[in-house]
Amino acid sequence: MTTGWLLFTDLDETLLDQDSDDYHQVFPALQKLKENNTPVIPVSSKTQAELAVFMQKLNLDGPMIGENGAVISYPGEEPQIAPPGYLLIRDFLVDSRTNPNYDTLGFGDMEIEEVMEITGLPQDRAQLATQRLGSEAFIWQGDDAGLKQFRFEVARAGLRLRQGKHFLQLLGNTDKGRAIRFVTKHMKKRGLPISKTIGLGDSDKDRELLLAVDIPIIVRKQNGSHIRLKQRPDAIISDLTGPAGWNQVIMDLFAKQEK
Ligand SMILES: [Mg+2]
Repeated sequence: MTTGWLLFTDLDETLLDQDSDDYHQVFPALQKLKENNTPVIPVSSKTQAELAVFMQKLNLDGPMIGENGAVISYPGEEPQIAPPGYLLIRDFLVDSRTNPNYDTLGFGDMEIEEVMEITGLPQDRAQLATQRLGSEAFIWQGDDAGLKQFRFEVARAGLRLRQGKHFLQLLGNTDKGRAIRFVTKHMKKRGLPISKTIGLGDSDKDRELLLAVDIPIIVRKQNGSHIRLKQRPDAIISDLTGPAGWNQVIMDLFAKQEK
């Protein structure tokens, strides 16, 4: 049996618990999705190396979207990297420092210990986070006026800037929404019968994700609050928070379908 669904999901505080990275709460829904051959595709700022670890833990084997949409990987294939790619993005960042107002410190400038300190990640996971293919994560050490000017330079170079939890991320002219549309098209071309795309996210960083799918699902944050999606008043909002909410909404969708 197949649902005809293609499911895209944020990880942190949506599929994974905020504090423990625990995912036993989503197992019932994941199991059901697996039985119905529904690909569960993570859409994240994480690197492909980091995502691969999660995919293995969750026993998932479909495509994944990493680095905020800059990297798409299909199982058993080389990752597809949005231009210009990591090395040219590094060049842009390093070259920009000729302007003393653009004071940046990127992953490529740091020792692994510094990355561990800033992210709070253990060494093995920090190492995975530095294996970047299509974007650079960096800290802005200059003032706000400089950052405003820098944003302008970034746009002029055809690049994009994203605000992450600990870092800014510099990537090519792409985003999570574009990557989702690209993967959907690609999976259709491969003959996967897709009737609906579903997307789950909890934060402002997931807006592109939620707006790129047929069924947007907003997962409630741990404190019970949730984002609003003005453009999609039909968006589903979970009753429960975090992974429990993720599980609940997907189980509800199945129950509705089986009626
Ligand atoms: Mg999140």
